[in-house]
Amino acid sequence: IQKIGVYTSGGDAPGMNAAIRAVVRVGISQKLEVYGIHNGYVGMIENKIEPLQLRDMANIIQRGGTILKTGRSTEFMRPEGRARAAQNIKNLGLDALVCIGGDGSFRGAHALWEEHQIPVVGVPGTIDNDIFGSDKTIGFDTAVNTALEAIDRIRDTAASHDRLFIVEVMGRNSGFIASHVGLAGGAEEIFTPDANTTVEKAIDRINEAKSRGKTSSIIITAEGQKPGRAYDLADAIRKKSGMDAKVCILGHQQRGGSPTAADRILASRMGAAAVDALFKGYCDVMIGTEGERLIQVPLDLVYKNEKKNQLDLISLASVLAT
Ligand code: ATP
Repeated sequence: IQKIGVYTSGGDAPGMNAAIRAVVRVGISQKLEVYGIHNGYVGMIENKIEPLQLRDMANIIQRGGTILKTGRSTEFMRPEGRARAAQNIKNLGLDALVCIGGDGSFRGAHALWEEHQIPVVGVPGTIDNDIFGSDKTIGFDTAVNTALEAIDRIRDTAASHDRLFIVEVMGRNSGFIASHVGLAGGAEEIFTPDANTTVEKAIDRINEAKSRGKTSSIIITAEGQKPGRAYDLADAIRKKSGMDAKVCILGHQQRGGSPTAADRILASRMGAAAVDALFKGYCDVMIGTEGERLIQVPLDLVYKNEKKNQLDLISLASVLAT
């Protein structure tokens, strides 16, 4: 291979820039020409593709978001859209692509390989950590730390006013951020789409803690399929127990910010491994982690399977927050 392209797609995540930097610098050091595709599949269809040089990667490892911008494209969901994108890639003579994104982006990448024989290697970039085949995704550690900082601050107020706080963290249908932040932040109760926490259990636990002298509590809830779930929870707790809960929805601040060291290192390793995989002739795979080890997982396995949350973290949090 002589020319490769790199793009970021779906939701942005801190550490994506570190991954782009690794792809570009490892690629160029191996005598490849590397092109940046702007706005994900939107730019692939609109031919917003430019060559990248070593110095274009200066001063980006510490920046959140993605310098290539990201995008969502409905046109790319249709075969005609993908054909236009594939034609642009072929016209430029790109031999292979690195796709940094989530599940949806990998479905698109798999289609590019199946329908147009364009080799793509995926790198998992999403704060949600909900990608099957990789223990960790780029951006997750940063998001957990950002949410944790906010929770530590909220705890100061909760403790000073003897209050119950319900804090909603991101994570869409998955509860990875909630379970990790809940354990690390000493939450009294954690609600995620897959945990069997109930309002009744939460009330019992808070009352038991009160009887032992605890005056403030924090409940963490994953946004789940329904944004604003924290307000429903507060309502349910108020109706069933008379307890008043303050609600705090952390929202998009969890998506931004400078990536943690762990995310920069993960992104750098994964970006380099993606280029290495393309060199060795692999494609239609995602680079994942299994413990500290980097692995390759077929793209269709990645998006056809659901990653299970570590519910043991939730049980441990509940034992520890007594
Ligand atoms: P995140 O989960 O962080 O938002 P994602 O990659 O899952 O990332 P999506 O919006 O689901 O985000 O997908 C990104 C883009 O991938 C879509 O806008 C679309 O262009 C393309 N895509 C998604 N699903 C498919 C599919 N089934 N076939 C072809 N392309 C797809």
